[in-house]
Amino acid sequence: MAGMEMKPASALPPAGGTGYLAGAAGVHIGGTACRAAAGLENRIWRGALAPGDVSAVMGAIVAAVHEVEEEPKFVVVATPGHVDSIAGTVAAAANLGPEWEGTVPLRDLLRDRLQCDVEVRNDAEMALQAERRRGGLVAANDGALITLSTGVGVALLVDGRDQPTELGHSVLQFDGPPCTGRPHQGCYESYLGGWALPSRYRERHPEFQGTAREIPDDPEFWAECGARLGELVMTLCLLGQRIEVISLIGMVALARAHLLLPAVETRVKKEATLLGTVPRRITVTPLGEDVAVLGALLVARDLLYPFRFA
Ligand SMILES: [Zn+2]
Repeated sequence: MAGMEMKPASALPPAGGTGYLAGAAGVHIGGTACRAAAGLENRIWRGALAPGDVSAVMGAIVAAVHEVEEEPKFVVVATPGHVDSIAGTVAAAANLGPEWEGTVPLRDLLRDRLQCDVEVRNDAEMALQAERRRGGLVAANDGALITLSTGVGVALLVDGRDQPTELGHSVLQFDGPPCTGRPHQGCYESYLGGWALPSRYRERHPEFQGTAREIPDDPEFWAECGARLGELVMTLCLLGQRIEVISLIGMVALARAHLLLPAVETRVKKEATLLGTVPRRITVTPLGEDVAVLGALLVARDLLYPFRFA
């Protein structure tokens, strides 16, 4: 072994410790929350995020990163809106604040502030990454991720590749309630989106004045929502590709799955003979509200240490 330089043991990271992962961080910004994660997925910081101008939200991101990682080397930010990951820009992320309706060069702004490498990705894409590697879509090759949050999002997993869709805005009732984001009526989001649920509940209970979180666990109301969700599942099954597993994420799914899922199953079973494929499992993510920030961390680690993890 003459001539080989040996590193002192103290300079090596501890086996299995966070030393292997130092420097990678994931961030998720949503309409009301900012989350950051680093290390072995166990260092997660969660904070409130008020809608604000670009510099205020940037400040929140930078502070969140420093909560979990003193010396960030590679940060992946998961954001709502249209993301151009090559240009590093985000557009039409209106729920972050009015300034975010236009195109924001978020990656370059954050690189300057954090003095490290930054990538910007769509939050649904990062959630799918986490679901495939740690959550409800592990070992699934064909499936779907449905987000039930303020909006309704659908990402398909087709032969191992993810395929974002606009199916949350596909119309199931042409004379249905108006959508807010699009010039149409009766799309899935107008029945199941967090913004729409209080109005749908008020149609049954005109005295109700609360938010989606404040809607009671009214079995009839949620069974009707579950039937609509079952119709979205059927729409996916009728696309002609295999759907083995469906995973649900987002605050509405997390809070109301026990009321929604039985009605989904009933609705899908009713049409089972029509459908070429029926998912063998429809579940809620085991990753809770942290799903997108975990995905961002996993991608940041891949980019910083490309040969370290499968
Ligand atoms: Zn719509």
